[in-house]
Amino acid sequence: MNDEVETEARRSIPAGESIARDDGGPDGRGPEGRTADGLPAATVVLKPKRARPFFGRHPWVLDSAVLRVDGDPQSGAVVDLTTHDGLFVGRGLWNGSSRIRVRLYAFDAATPLDTAEWRRRLERAVALRRTLGMLDPSGACRLVNSEGDDLSGLIVDRYGAYLAVQVTALALAGRLEVVCDALEALVAPRGILLRGAERGLAKLEGLHLPDRVLRGAPPDGPVFVTEHGLRFGVDLTEGQKTGHYLDQRDNRQAAARLARGRRVLDMFCYSGGFAVACAVAGTARSVLAVDGSPRAAALARANAELNGAASITVEAADAFEKLDALAAAGERFGMVVLDPPKFARSRASVDDALRAYHRVNRLAVDLLEPGGILVTCSCSGSVSRDDFLQMLAGVAQRGRRTLQILEVRGAAADHPVSVSCLEGEYLTCVIARVI
Ligand code: SAH
Repeated sequence: MNDEVETEARRSIPAGESIARDDGGPDGRGPEGRTADGLPAATVVLKPKRARPFFGRHPWVLDSAVLRVDGDPQSGAVVDLTTHDGLFVGRGLWNGSSRIRVRLYAFDAATPLDTAEWRRRLERAVALRRTLGMLDPSGACRLVNSEGDDLSGLIVDRYGAYLAVQVTALALAGRLEVVCDALEALVAPRGILLRGAERGLAKLEGLHLPDRVLRGAPPDGPVFVTEHGLRFGVDLTEGQKTGHYLDQRDNRQAAARLARGRRVLDMFCYSGGFAVACAVAGTARSVLAVDGSPRAAALARANAELNGAASITVEAADAFEKLDALAAAGERFGMVVLDPPKFARSRASVDDALRAYHRVNRLAVDLLEPGGILVTCSCSGSVSRDDFLQMLAGVAQRGRRTLQILEVRGAAADHPVSVSCLEGEYLTCVIARVI
C-alpha cells in the first residue's frame, strides 16, 4: 500500500457524512447502534489469504480485502476484523465509504477502543516527546504522528502553548472531543486549533473539517518558538502544514554544521528554516533564500530579522526559473539546499516526480563549486530512498560530477514511523559533497 491508496481513500469520503460519537446511550448502545465501551458493533470478514498484512499489524484494511461485513456498522463504529474462518485479527474503526474500510488500532481482542484507550495512546505519544526532551514550553514538536503513534489519521503539532490538530481519518474526526480532553489534561495548552489536512486534500477527502478553534483561544499573531536555539515566528492559522516544517528540524541543524563560511542557496525556503540555521548557527558567509510564494518569502524575511541574520537575502521566485537564471549569470554557491514540495502525489506519478527531482538537482549541482555541499530532500512518500539515490546517481552521471553521500537522513524523532506501516516514512534528506 502507498499514499496513493491513502489519497484514494480520502477522496472517497463523502462530504458532510455524519460522524458517530464514542459515547453510547444508557443501554450500552450508542444512537448509531454501537456499543458504548469501545467493543465491536460488527465484524468485518477478510477474504481468504488476505490476512497476512494485518497479522503483521498493518493498520489499513482496503475494501478489496473484505469478503463481507456481519452487521451494519455506521462510519466511525468499532469493528472487529477476522479471517474468513473466524479467527480474530484486529480491532479498528469502520468507514463504509473509504477505500480504507477499516483502520486497525488494536491487535488483541481484550482492548476496547474506548475513551480510556485513546487517552492511553495520547499519553504514550506525549511521553515519547518527554523522553526526547521536546516538551520545553518555548519549543515546538510533533506530539502525535498518526500511524507512528498508533493513532492512524491523527496529527498534533505543538507550538509553544498552542496545539494544531490535523485529522485525516473520518473515524477520528468523530472522537475529537476525547482527543482534546486528553490533550488538555496532558499538556494544558492555551488553545487547540483544527487545521485542514494538506492544502487541497481536505476537499479531496471530503472530510469537511473547516479550520476552527477547538479549545481555548487562538493566538492573536504569530507564535514564536525556539528551535535549536533559533527563533521562528509560526503562523498557526494561515501557514503551510500546521505552520512550520517540524520534520526538517534536525536536518536544518545538520546542514548548518557544514555551512560555515559558504555562500548558501536555500531553494524552496518557506519561512526560512534552513536559511536562518545556516546563517546564524552555521555562520555561512551569505544566504540567498528563494520561495515561489511571496507570503512564504515574507515569513522568511521576518524570521531572518528576528534572528538578526543580516546575511540573508530573500526572493520570491519560481525555483526552476531562478536556478536557470543563476546558472546563466555564472553564479556559484558553496551549499545548495533543495526542499521542494511533494512532487509525487501517488505511485502513478513517481516517474514524473523523479524527472522533476532530477531536473532541479541537476540545476543545483551545476551551481555548486567543487567541494560544495548539496542538501537535497524529498517528501514524496511514494519515492523510495533507493529511487531518490538512483536519481542522484543519474545527476552525477549527466552532470559529470562526483557525489559523495555524507548523510542520508529522515524526519526528526518526534515523527516516529511504525515498523508495520513504513508508508509513514516519507522524508529523505541526502547531504552530499559534490566534487
Ligand atoms: N525548507 C522549508 C520547507 C519548504 S516546503 C523549511 O525548512 O521550512 C516547500 C516550499 O516550496 C513551499 O514553501 C512552497 O511555497 C515552495 N514552492 C513550491 N513550488 C515552488 C516553485 N516552483 N518555486 C519555488 N518555490 C516553490
